[in-house]
Amino acid sequence: YAKRRGGNNYQYFTARMSETALHRLKLESHLRKAVELNELELHYQPQLDIGQGRFCALEALIRWNCRELGRLSPTDFIPVAEETGLIVGIGEWVLRQACLQARKLRDSGIPLGRMAVNVSAIQFLHKGFPLLVKRILAETGLEPALLELELTESVLVNDEAVVLNVLQALKQIGVELAIDDFGTGYSSLSRLKSFPIDRLKIDRSFVHNIEQDQDNAAIVIAIIAMAESMNMKVIAEGVETDSQLAFLSQKHCSEAQGFLLSKPLPSAEIFKFLQKEFNDPAPF
Ligand code: C2E
Ligand code: MG
Ligand code: MG
Ligand code: MG
Repeated sequence: YAKRRGGNNYQYFTARMSETALHRLKLESHLRKAVELNELELHYQPQLDIGQGRFCALEALIRWNCRELGRLSPTDFIPVAEETGLIVGIGEWVLRQACLQARKLRDSGIPLGRMAVNVSAIQFLHKGFPLLVKRILAETGLEPALLELELTESVLVNDEAVVLNVLQALKQIGVELAIDDFGTGYSSLSRLKSFPIDRLKIDRSFVHNIEQDQDNAAIVIAIIAMAESMNMKVIAEGVETDSQLAFLSQKHCSEAQGFLLSKPLPSAEIFKFLQKEFNDPAPF
C-alpha cells in the first residue's frame, strides 16, 4: 500500500515501523531492569459485595513508572513482558507484594476478604508455579483462602490435563481461583465445568452499556445464572454508574468492581479508603 503511494510515503512508512520496533526494544530493555530499579508499584481496586453493601476484596494492578519512558499502561507492557518471559519474574514480584499488602491490612485490623492477583498464562504454566504460590504464602504469612488468582480464558484453552493439574494443585494449597474478562475468550463451557473455579469476572465490555444494549444485558444475565448453577460466585467489572450497579443488584450479581466504587489506589490511599469505609460506610 505504502509503495503504491510513492517513494516518499514508503520511506515514511518504514521509518515509522522501525520507530515502533525501536520503542519495543527500548521498552524491553527497560522492563528488564524495572524490578531492581524499584520502578514497579501495585495499585489496589476495591471489590464490593453487593448484597452486604461492603467491600470484600481488592484487586492488585501493576503500575510502571519508568525513569526514562515515563508512566506506561499494563496493557502496553504486560504483552511485552509475556513475549520475553520477563512476566515470570515480574509476576513473582507482584504476588509477593500483593500478599504482603494483604497481610499488612489484616494486621492493622481491616476486615478485608481476599486479595486478587492477575496471573498470565505463561506464569501459570511455568514449572513450579503452585510451589511458588505456596512459598510466598508461607513467607508472608497470609492465609491461602485470602489470595485469589485471576486467570484469563487464554489459560484454560491450553492442554486440559496440564491445566487441570495446576488448578488442582492450587486448590490443594487453598487459594481461590477466578476467571478474568469472562465472555471474551474461547474457553468451552464443558471445560469450565470440569475445572475447580470459584468465581467468574464478567468482562467490562458487557457491563458498560448494559442499559442500552439488550444483547449485553442478556449475556450478563446468562453469565450470572450460569455461575449460580455451577456454584460459582460472579463479579462484574467496569461498573461506572449507579444504574449499572442497580441493574446488577436486581439480577443478583454477587459482587461489583469499577470506577463508581473506586479507581485503583496506591498502597497508602487504599489503607485510608478502607479505614474510612469500615468506620463510616458509604451507602452503595
Ligand atoms: P484486568 O485484570 O481486567 O483489570 C481491570 C482493568 O480495568 C484495570 O486496568 C482497571 O484499572 C480497569 N478498570 C477498573 N474499573 C474500571 C471502570 O469502571 N471502567 C474502566 N473503563 N476501566 C476500569 P489496568 O490497571 O490498566 O490493567 C489492565 C490489564 O493489565 C488488566 O486487566 C490485566 O489484564 C493486566 N494486568 C494488570 N496488572 C497485572 C499484573 O500484575 N499481572 C498481569 N499478568 N497482568 C496485569
Ligand atoms: Mg484482573
Ligand atoms: Mg478483568
Ligand atoms: Mg478486563
